[in-house]
Amino acid sequence: GKMVYYFGKTKTEGKGKEKQLLGGKGLNLAEMTSIGLPVPPGFTITTEVCDAYYKSGEKLPKGLTEEVNKAVATLEKETGKKFGDDANPLLVSVRSGAAVSMPGMMNTILNLGLNDTATQGLAKATKNERFAYDAYRRLINMFGDVVMGMDHHIFEKAFDSVKKTFKVTEDTDVPAEGLKKLCEEYKAVFKKHTGQNFPQDPMKQLELSIMAVFGSWNTTRAVRYREIEGIRGLLGTAVNVQSMVYGNMGEDSGTGVAFTRNPNTGENKFFGEFLINAQGEDVVAGIRTPQPVADMPKWNRAVHKELLGIKKTLEDHYAEMQDIEFTIERGTLYMLQTRTGKRTGLAAVKIACDMVKEKLIDQKTAVLRVPANDLTQLLLPSFKPTARNAADVLCRGLPASPGAAVGKLAFTAEDARVESDKGNSVILVRKETSPEDVDGMNCSAGILTSTGGMTSHAAVVARGWGKCCVAGAGEIEINAKTKKIKVNGRTFGVNDVISLDGTTGEVMSGEVETQEPKLSGDFSKLMKWADEYRTLAIRTNADSPADAKRARDFGAEGIGLCRTEHMFFEGDRITDMRAMILAEDEKDRRAALKKLLPFQRKDFEGIFKAMNGLPVTVRLLDPPLHEFLPHTTESRKEVASQLGVKPSEVAKRGEALHESNPMLGHRGCRLSVTYPEILEMQVRAIVEAAINCAKKKIKAQPEIMIPLVGTANELELLRGKVEAVIEDTKASKKFEGKLNILIGTMIEIPRAALTADEVAEHADFFSFGTNDLTQMTFGYSRDDVNTFLPDYLSQDILEVDPFQSLDQSGVGQLVEMGCAKGRSTKKDLKVGICGEHGGDPASIEFCNKVGLNYVSCSPFRVPIARLAAAQAAL
Ligand code: ADP
Ligand code: MG
Ligand code: MG
Repeated sequence: GKMVYYFGKTKTEGKGKEKQLLGGKGLNLAEMTSIGLPVPPGFTITTEVCDAYYKSGEKLPKGLTEEVNKAVATLEKETGKKFGDDANPLLVSVRSGAAVSMPGMMNTILNLGLNDTATQGLAKATKNERFAYDAYRRLINMFGDVVMGMDHHIFEKAFDSVKKTFKVTEDTDVPAEGLKKLCEEYKAVFKKHTGQNFPQDPMKQLELSIMAVFGSWNTTRAVRYREIEGIRGLLGTAVNVQSMVYGNMGEDSGTGVAFTRNPNTGENKFFGEFLINAQGEDVVAGIRTPQPVADMPKWNRAVHKELLGIKKTLEDHYAEMQDIEFTIERGTLYMLQTRTGKRTGLAAVKIACDMVKEKLIDQKTAVLRVPANDLTQLLLPSFKPTARNAADVLCRGLPASPGAAVGKLAFTAEDARVESDKGNSVILVRKETSPEDVDGMNCSAGILTSTGGMTSHAAVVARGWGKCCVAGAGEIEINAKTKKIKVNGRTFGVNDVISLDGTTGEVMSGEVETQEPKLSGDFSKLMKWADEYRTLAIRTNADSPADAKRARDFGAEGIGLCRTEHMFFEGDRITDMRAMILAEDEKDRRAALKKLLPFQRKDFEGIFKAMNGLPVTVRLLDPPLHEFLPHTTESRKEVASQLGVKPSEVAKRGEALHESNPMLGHRGCRLSVTYPEILEMQVRAIVEAAINCAKKKIKAQPEIMIPLVGTANELELLRGKVEAVIEDTKASKKFEGKLNILIGTMIEIPRAALTADEVAEHADFFSFGTNDLTQMTFGYSRDDVNTFLPDYLSQDILEVDPFQSLDQSGVGQLVEMGCAKGRSTKKDLKVGICGEHGGDPASIEFCNKVGLNYVSCSPFRVPIARLAAAQAAL
């Protein structure tokens, strides 16, 4: 098919095409051209060509050269310039651009087309010799670096020696003559290190650069970035060849990056930075600190006004907040890039709500716009005001990405990785970050840089991840060698803890106490809209009244999983629990259980009260009993003395309960089969709690869930016991009212899913326990999976951790089948899932698709689940 798409006044071939084909940058260059924005003309080579390049062993496909030649000819005609010309040469940039933006991950080559002749031509055409040779030396440098893989320092060394000759320290002070000399030097080192002359043929330069851009698709750092971001299924990168404009032609020129709205807060105000007399990536690289665009009118009022007009044009066209790159050449503005702007969760919510108000988008679009997972950022901790006020503020940098982070200092990405693997919270401290640091940045609690602006690499990447970042804290002197920072005369090293406030930019010494966030009006508005569209109910996993209350505040509509085992560890109860486990016979066991009953009843009462009429699914005791026994000789002694038995007794019972494979052992409903008195106590506690609530006019809606059922017979037997206890308790409490307690089961053993039609005979509801179901379907021990899972992920045997995101084709099949089979027996069977997957947007989408009634997740993920469920329904 067609390999090259032209954009410019002559024609705009890429308009309305797919991002998959042209990449985001290429498509948007075409779109911007078509809506009349000032874009330097050029052409895009498709991602399919990149794919073909790799499939044919890194060779450019046949016919590409001809298409490129034709496009170059059109470009020459449109611009009135010629490649390699000695009077008015055409110069282009060669830019990467995949369908998903990967900021700074791949290569760009600027000023391509310069050779010895063209440089003279450029000097003539611009009447600026210095500028021309500066452009040439930049090209040789970039080309050597990017295309030939030469070390950057080789060029720096040559530059330093030229600076010495001309007795200057700044690049900008080197005169034309010096730069001319430098170009000769550069060509010499180029030859020395590559064994070839710097290519004088612009078409040759272009061909090699195109291959280098394709090559940058598969560098380690690019591959790692895609891994972290979960970017999959792309053909490769497109290549954009675009005629050059110059932001470095003097004081009337400049370059900048901006967002059409504030990407931190969402405020509807143009937000960006620019540098006067600068080219290319000077802003992003954080080498010089730029000025805010708000200050631009002082420099060039007309350009500022034009930018504000472009903000409106772009937002009207895309109905979305944009992130733009622009350059001003001698007072004329050019647009070099636009894309959907990355933003914090907070900004995403505000922008979505504002755009509905502005009639740019409708409610549904607003709900779809906010990535559900990004809501975590609104639910992020901040610093306690009192602790903040008392904090020892060292200095202030730019508030690059909000949040609160506390950690030990790490000076390299590798150190950050090592420390975080040890379980330590770290703050990565760098002069500036570069794409090589992404892994270390990812595992740090926060990022601190001493140079660079709000749009520097560190800031952009951190914001994308919702990670706290303070950038450009210039007062900090970083010595990466000695691993020390110096700030206002004080020194801190790897063993010191600091705190970062990403919302104010403050850097504080020591650990400042953090607190939970408060939610904005826009957040509740968006949640309300989400609730209108979703059909899945959202429940929570909660074991205490406090968790239950928090989840209700977040909008939970019930408890999907209340684990009872945690209740046995609190306070003195563990002693009675152990007495029960150590009991010689049923009589002693019952005596110990009797002491536990009031505790359980009180816990349930508290939870029923907190949920005030909403359903509460209580799971009967699940873990193997030996989990409750002490494991060291020391603690065995203590327990023995508490219970008045010999330590050897405790050890003996521990040994008797020992299992080689406890997760597949005596646990779940199997405990109730052997020790029905445990079930009886728990059910009695639940029913008494419900009766006590009813007497206080609090409606309790317990649902009793029997775990780890694999056969219908197990459930039939245990259901009978539960029903008997319910009746008995009602009778002994002389309770005449209705309780309406449902009895159901967890489906977490594959056999239960396979025979769900039989199991459903005895169940009022199913809840898929997808943690165990995943464990048993894959045969991966959940507790040991980290010994091999990283290898499985890095070797692409698994795409994602199946314990985090539901394996839809395998485990999901059991869920779908279990649900369908269950409902074939009982049409109205209530079905939900509990387990980690209940809070994962991709898993929620699946649950919605297969027709579950609810998902249950941890309290903090309830808002995420509400939004994800709405997005799944839309
Ligand atoms: P990235 O994807 O890393 O942002 P780009 O392709 O956007 O890389 O290029 C980086 C920078 O190079 C741009 O932000 C812009 O400042 C500069 N640049 C690229 N093409 C041109 C051009 N045709 N004219 C002037 N500057 C350019
Ligand atoms: Mg860019
Ligand atoms: Mg389980």
